[in-house]
Amino acid sequence: MHEMALAESVLGLIEDARRRQGFARVRAVRLEIGALAGVEVEALRSCLAIVFERSVARAARIECAIAPGSGYCLDCGQTVAMDALYAACPRCAGPHVQATHGMQMRVRDLMVE
Ligand SMILES: [Zn+2]
Repeated sequence: MHEMALAESVLGLIEDARRRQGFARVRAVRLEIGALAGVEVEALRSCLAIVFERSVARAARIECAIAPGSGYCLDCGQTVAMDALYAACPRCAGPHVQATHGMQMRVRDLMVE
């Protein structure tokens, strides 16, 4: 499952940060999830709860912000907003829009103590 792999990568990042910074626990994790990343936020939250259970992040609050998607339309040459991959262009209805932003998930920051 895609969300479980993402959750494990978030924990890996937290463990790396802990080795460098030596904090005792994580109070909050702020994630930015691209609208085109294909991430189910509720599924991701469930997976994070599982992988965080035995870690310094077990009590962490998880905040998810959605980053808007956008792409470049090869038909009309404009940069356009996208809310789904492979959606038609909202300006010219052309089918050849290449996603350029909003395909990834990243950890924006950690609140630690
Ligand atoms: Zn277009």
